[in-house]
Formats: sequence, C-alpha cells, structure tokens
Amino acid sequence: MGFFDIFKKNKAEKTDKTAKPAKKEAEEKKATPRDAAAPATSGLPAVDLGELLPGAPKNGKIKLAIYWAAACGGCDVSLLDTNERILTIGDMADIVMWPIAADGKEKDIAAMGDQEITVSIINGAVRNSENEHMVKLLRQKSLLVISYGSCACFGGTPALANLVDGKDDILDYVYTKTPTTANFQEQCGHKSAPIIPQNSYQAPEGELTLPLLYDTVKSLDQVIDVDYSIPGCPPQQESIAVLLKALVDFVYNGVALPPKGTMIGVTTKTLCEECPRHKENRRITKICEPHEVDVDPELCLMDQGILCLGPATVGGCGAKCTRVGQPCRGCYGPTEVVQEQGASMFTAVASLFPVLEEDPTCSEDEIIDIMSTVKDPLGYFYAFSMSKALIKRKVSEKGGQ
Ligand code: SF4
Ligand code: SF4
Ligand code: SF4
Repeated sequence: MGFFDIFKKNKAEKTDKTAKPAKKEAEEKKATPRDAAAPATSGLPAVDLGELLPGAPKNGKIKLAIYWAAACGGCDVSLLDTNERILTIGDMADIVMWPIAADGKEKDIAAMGDQEITVSIINGAVRNSENEHMVKLLRQKSLLVISYGSCACFGGTPALANLVDGKDDILDYVYTKTPTTANFQEQCGHKSAPIIPQNSYQAPEGELTLPLLYDTVKSLDQVIDVDYSIPGCPPQQESIAVLLKALVDFVYNGVALPPKGTMIGVTTKTLCEECPRHKENRRITKICEPHEVDVDPELCLMDQGILCLGPATVGGCGAKCTRVGQPCRGCYGPTEVVQEQGASMFTAVASLFPVLEEDPTCSEDEIIDIMSTVKDPLGYFYAFSMSKALIKRKVSEKGGQ
C-alpha cells in the first residue's frame, strides 16, 4: 500500500470516528500540541532531529512543493538553514517545486493530479494575480498546505502597502518619485510621461504580460484553505524543527498530524513571558530608539522607553530580539486570544502613560506630543499583521477602498 493510500485510509478512518461527544472534542481541541510542546517561560523545547530521517520511507517518498508568493526570500533561506538536514529531507521527499532552489514549473504542477503533492509549504503574502493563481493551484494539488512565515500568515511587510490608496500610488512612487527613478525618468526624457510597467504590452513579436498587481495584500488563509501555520520573519529553527518532526513522525511512523489549524512553533502566552528582562512597569514619558540610549541589559525595554511589541506578540521565538537589546517587532503575530495585534499594542502603550490619579504626570497634550515622536505608528504596530487587522487597508473616499 503506497503512501497516499495510507494517508487516504487514515483520513477515511478519522472521518468515521468524527462523531465524538462534544465534551471530548472540546478537551481534545484544547489540548493542542501548542500546549504540550511549548512551556511558557523558555520558548520552545529543543527538538532532537538526530535520527529522524533513516533513508527513504518504506511506503515511498512524499512529494513536497515549496513556493514563494510576495516574499523576500528570507523564508526560503530559513529552510536552507536546516544545514545538512536539507539534504536528508531528500530521503523523505521529492521536491516537485521550489523556485529559489530547484526547477519545477507551473505547467508541471498543473499536469499533476489533485492532491498528488503531499505537502506544499508556501511563504509570502498574496499581492498579485500570479501569486493568487499559484497558491490556488498548489491548494488543489496538495493534501496539506502550510502557511510559512509572517507574510503568509498575517500579510507581513508586503501588507504595509495596504496603507496607501492603491496599486497606482505604489507604482507612481516607485517608478517616478524615488531619487533613482525620478532621475532616470528625467534623464531619459520621460519626466512628463513617465514609463510605468503595464500589465500588457503589444510588442511586434506578440503580447507581453505581467501579473496584475492588487490594491490589497492578503494573507494566505484569506485566499485558500490552510492546514497549518508557522509564523516568524522568518520562522526560527526551533519552529522548523517542530514542523519537520511532525512531518517525519507522520511519514515514517504513521503518527497522527497535529489538528488542522494548529499554529506551529508558538506558545500560548505573550513574548514577555519568555523574555528574560526584568519588568518594572515604569511609566512612559519619552519614547526612544535603542541607539539613543545606553540600553540596560537586564531591564525591560519598555521600561526604558523603547517600544517593544512583546506584550502584543505570541511567544515561541525564545525572545531572540530582546535578548540582544532590540525590541520585538511582533513577527510571530498575536496570541490566540488577541484579534488585533496593533490595537493590542496601542493599548499596552497607553496603559504605561502616567495619567492615573495617583500619578498624573502627563496631560493629554503631552501624551500626544510623546506619541508624535513615533514616526510611523501604523507601520510600527502593524509591521507584520496588517492583513489581519480589523481594518485591513487604508480607506479613502477617493479610491473607495
Ligand atoms: S516572513 Fe519575513 S523572511 Fe519570510 S518572506 Fe516575509 S519578510 Fe521575508
Ligand atoms: S516588553 Fe519587551 S523587553 Fe519588556 S518584558 Fe516584554 S518582551 Fe521583554
Ligand atoms: S522577538 Fe519578536 S520580532 Fe524578534 S523574532 Fe521574536 S517575535 Fe519576532
């Protein structure tokens, strides 16, 4: 019996057993691997990958696709950071697509049967028609889809493009307003009619096309159904180890996969819970950048006036940034109980201003002055989660967005 037959059989058996008592189902749902695998105070426990890939699985290799949508490449590099492990993954899987590292074209994927790919790991947000086409195609051809990295999970930095009026504004800025492109357009005599890429161009040899840029950048799960998510910019090796172990346990030993919808590599608490810095909840009267102060190596960064998204961010990375004196920018996204990472952070900051009756140091005007020193508050508080915000993009009368 081949791998797919086993998978389908297990899936069918699982479906037969789905009529569980509501209480049992609720308990199982509660006891997700997030709880078991992630003590709140120290990030994720190390996963031993030493003996995980003992040659090819006896039921045959799985098929693996890795795809980048609107991405920077960092997520792909993080997969390569598994070092020699990436070679042994070749024992487990045939890589049918990986644009950054292997061949495998859209037509090859399109020619495959539905669900023929075992796992597709997709990083990057969805911001153009090619991204949308490819992720929908991979969904159709894959048994499992993993949303990999903050751009795929929450929109990430590409989704900050949602803060302008639309794609025309972006193209106008990028191709006519930046110092280099403005100079280029002027020097080439195109200042009054700048050259901006079009979706279609009729060349003598035939029509040339580019993907259609969208006005709104979306997270992967806003476009296709996603089985698992693994956040991070990029995901840390500890998280990747958890993902790999789950896949390897499943492929080699038939161990059940985590429940659909599991966010892999995160704890149930905020980053502050695993940050080693000592928190005194000092009142904020000034906001500064790390380079503007002599950072106390042990004191909470917020206590030192440095905006840190730890209170609004889920734990799991082991507080990588704050340990080295840099504030958390929130790349792991919000905790389960928080819908809005940015708003949650605004609330956290607001609670630190000295406005209480017993400590009324700041007037409303002074607070506005202090907050005005944050040059780009939306960009700061929604650096990774704009697509998941309640208001997902700039709303303008002009564009009707
Ligand atoms: S999550 Fe970070 S590393 Fe991954 S594609 Fe997005 S910006 Fe790059
Ligand atoms: S606010 Fe930042 S520096 Fe302070 S405890 Fe939380 S994560 Fe650590
Ligand atoms: S500290 Fe924050 S920004 Fe840094 S890796 Fe962890 S979640 Fe991401």
